[in-house]
Amino acid sequence: MTKICCVCQRVENGSHWKEEYEFAENERVTHGYCPLCFDVIMAELMESMDGLSPEGCAVHCSGQEKEQQNLCV
Ligand SMILES: [Zn+2]
Repeated sequence: MTKICCVCQRVENGSHWKEEYEFAENERVTHGYCPLCFDVIMAELMESMDGLSPEGCAVHCSGQEKEQQNLCV
């Protein structure tokens, strides 16, 4: 299965990510993140989590969704 980065559209080719890629006929593809875009996504995620104020947490965690509560704390 060929992996395509859903952010920059590069295609995984072995250990390399290529911008130009010739798809074979009937080639099966899946979408994901290349290492570069993954780093960017994670950095943005960390930043947005750091930016949560206590008030913001109260909003997010007021429900009974434990996973979200863990995220906020
Ligand atoms: Zn990418």
